[in-house]
Amino acid sequence: MLKYRGALVLMALLMLPSAAWSANNNPLLVGGPNDPPSRTDTPDNFATSPPGAHLTYYGGRVVSNMQVVEVLWGTGGAGTSNGHFLAQVVNTSTPSIATFYQQVLNSGYVDWLTEYNTDITDAGGNPGTNQTIGHGSFSEQVRITPVNTSSFLTDGDIKTELVNQIKAGHLPLPTADGAGNNNTYYAIFFPHGISIDSGGMISCRPGGFCAYHGTIVASTPVGEIYYGVHPDFQAGSGCDLGCGTGATTFDNVTSVASHEMAETITDCEVSLAPFNEPPLGWYDDNNGEIGDICNALQGSIVGADAHTYTVQKLFSNVANDCIVVPHVDGGGPILTISPTTKDFGAVKVHKLAKQTFILTNEDSSQTITFQRRLAIVTNSPIFQFPKKHATNCHQTLPPKGQCNLTLQFIARKKGTPESATVTIFDDAGNANQTISLSGSGK
Ligand SMILES: [Zn+2]
Repeated sequence: MLKYRGALVLMALLMLPSAAWSANNNPLLVGGPNDPPSRTDTPDNFATSPPGAHLTYYGGRVVSNMQVVEVLWGTGGAGTSNGHFLAQVVNTSTPSIATFYQQVLNSGYVDWLTEYNTDITDAGGNPGTNQTIGHGSFSEQVRITPVNTSSFLTDGDIKTELVNQIKAGHLPLPTADGAGNNNTYYAIFFPHGISIDSGGMISCRPGGFCAYHGTIVASTPVGEIYYGVHPDFQAGSGCDLGCGTGATTFDNVTSVASHEMAETITDCEVSLAPFNEPPLGWYDDNNGEIGDICNALQGSIVGADAHTYTVQKLFSNVANDCIVVPHVDGGGPILTISPTTKDFGAVKVHKLAKQTFILTNEDSSQTITFQRRLAIVTNSPIFQFPKKHATNCHQTLPPKGQCNLTLQFIARKKGTPESATVTIFDDAGNANQTISLSGSGK
């Protein structure tokens, strides 16, 4: 059955999450007095993909070896005023948007996308486009002087300008793989003060979008065009709120850019596909594209330039999860806990004994993400998390990062030995980890 895909036809949107974890908002602890009921103001998709998520191949093209042309809209320099850009968007030295594309397109982030090669039969039983997904590169940064100088642009305005700039020779023509499939991705970055309307959704507004990617129908001599739209994320833009939980504005820009980049690689012709059939690429009817399924779940990739780039997790059909790179048994980031056992010994009845445990991400490149339930302790309330300062762990633990978890023991009876197990929930290669506790009253 053909299914009309309605408003999704036009664009693959990265939505503003309704509420984001603030950087200092700790995951919940379960099993002690500090065990509040489930919060409703936190994302449900925290650290995991929606149940049943799966990308289906509908027969369209993918991008074999992406070549990125970074397009700067207008002549502004680095700065926070209207018409200007985030410094790392304009600069091309490490770290910048230019080096982000070059490094991430040559990393493990792209290696496993071979699971979305198209040398297969599509959902309709027809042969795929027979493409192999591999590394790509940053091609060049080009500044255009738009004919359209409005500060309020529609997606149609952007398409018109892009095609005209290519026709005028200001932007290069798209390149192609050996079989004629486009490799070029025009990643357009907008300066501060420009608002974009994509099918009635407005950039950087609640209910709007942080970025999107799209397709322009082929015309002579330009051919088909794949492009991404990235509004300014600087303070006051609106996208400084709700477009990611990275430590810096640049981190959120690269996260969103990685989402659109990966969606372009696996579903580049989405805007031309009104139905679940070619040229739609890899798509989940319920959850959208490879990035949408894992929207706003962030991780990181360390480039060959030694910079740690924030990226968004992507959905892997093979792993059945949102990942940055696949976990190899024993090869994922390892979370160690010190100490792993604690005998509180003989403690006076009703007196309180405390122990702080140090959690360390031993990996030098991969981030560990904690689940919304950071930890559970059994045999509560004899063993419990203290009401205050139980942890300073955040949603993610960066490479080589450390955070603390504190447990307390309150003996109830003289001489009775007590024990408990703490389980910590995360996506580390050695998850889930446990701590053994024991003690007795005197
Ligand atoms: Zn998306």
